[in-house]
Amino acid sequence: MHNKIAIIGAGPAGLITAETLLKAGVQVDIYDSMPSAGRKFLLAGKGGLNLTHSEGYEKFSSRYGDKRDILKPYLDNFTPNDLRAWAKELGVETFIGSSGRVFPEGMGAVPLLDAWLARLVSLGAVFHFRYRWVGWGADNALRFATKDKEILVNADAVVLTLGGASRPKTGSDAAWIPILKARGIEVNPLKPSNCGFDIHWSEHIKKNFAGSPIKTLTLSFGKKTQKGEFILTENGVEGSLIYAFSAEIRDEIETKGNAEIRLDLLPDTAAEKLHKTLSQPRGSRSMSSFLKKRTGLSGAKANLIWEVLPREEWNDPAKVSSIIKSLPLKLIAPRPIEEAISSAGGVSFDALDENLMLHNLPGVFCAGEMLDWEAPTGGYLLTACFATGQAVGNGILAWL
Ligand SMILES: Cc1cc2nc3c(=O)[nH]c(=O)nc-3n(C[C@H](O)[C@H](O)[C@H](O)COP(=O)(O)OP(=O)(O)OC[C@H]3O[C@@H](n4cnc5c(N)ncnc54)[C@H](O)[C@@H]3O)c2cc1C
Repeated sequence: MHNKIAIIGAGPAGLITAETLLKAGVQVDIYDSMPSAGRKFLLAGKGGLNLTHSEGYEKFSSRYGDKRDILKPYLDNFTPNDLRAWAKELGVETFIGSSGRVFPEGMGAVPLLDAWLARLVSLGAVFHFRYRWVGWGADNALRFATKDKEILVNADAVVLTLGGASRPKTGSDAAWIPILKARGIEVNPLKPSNCGFDIHWSEHIKKNFAGSPIKTLTLSFGKKTQKGEFILTENGVEGSLIYAFSAEIRDEIETKGNAEIRLDLLPDTAAEKLHKTLSQPRGSRSMSSFLKKRTGLSGAKANLIWEVLPREEWNDPAKVSSIIKSLPLKLIAPRPIEEAISSAGGVSFDALDENLMLHNLPGVFCAGEMLDWEAPTGGYLLTACFATGQAVGNGILAWL
């Protein structure tokens, strides 16, 4: 018998599910509310598409935090190396950047997505764009809103790969949440992940330094310390080093109302040596110009010191050196989810079986970012979308 499979959501999770099924000879129809596929994937490629990470597999899987054990069986079947091999098979070589992150040659997502879509079409995939899924109708038919009419589709199995709630202009607007909740599916609230945070900056910082990169420093929060860089924004801070801590910071703000991070602005200089340097006679020089001459600290990075240190302590070498080594910044709120790179929360794993099929809705499977897991940037997001998408493809093959 010819099975009819409807995949709703043409992001990486939906497309890899499609590929898994098509390669096994199963016909698929792929629906998306947008006029084309993979819009968030393309957006991800704009800053350099970080496909996966080359670090040891144990460390890699630990990046999924408390969802590591749940995701591990899927990741075991679609490892970072499998993802690289998959790209190569599409004619796109990958390389390991200096940080261990893996990128496609040329960094962008366009060649990869173009080759991928061409392969899916050649395998027989049928795409239906501008089809917005709005729920189920009578007899569990899928209801799609199209430009001029509602269309009902019956399918033997349904794959929901509808994404999270960040950057809704790419199509992932989380409008699926009330639809699934109405069917008794447990969905944990979506929250911003890999997001920036608000800080009450002075007008001086906002006016003069918004948009400035703050490079080579370490950030400490809780038990974790990490070296990296971030961007000072008009509202606060954002960028890779902040994203690496965003889950912990977000959760602390949720419980305590704010979160204090500590920065070491000169991580390669010992505190004692710095104190000694700053204690030397500086003649008529201001502390700020002395600091610049002796330590290289200047611009936005140096102004963080004057932002938090009371003016009467600006000439005190002990106070200045200790603030440089442990500068407190109070973060008061995460930026809105629409601005985030990804979202935490989503369909609870308790609602799913090991093939990622919903207990309450036999024949309906979920994969990708709409599931309740989160991970930092570093290629972990896409890898888990691919891994869960492939698992759903295999799950459907087993189920059929
Ligand atoms: C700026 C940015 C940079 C990123 N960079 C990276 C990176 O370098 N590395 C990395 O690993 N990850 C990165 N990510 C995250 C990564 O892109 C996402 O985690 C990934 O795209 C999620 O895949 P998905 O298939 O689950 O969902 P999505 O890619 O969000 O796709 C969901 C699809 O479902 C469709 N859809 C939603 N609702 C409906 C509906 N009701 N009816 C029909 N269709 C619907 C949407 O139109 C969309 O096409 C980045 C994200 C952003 C925003």
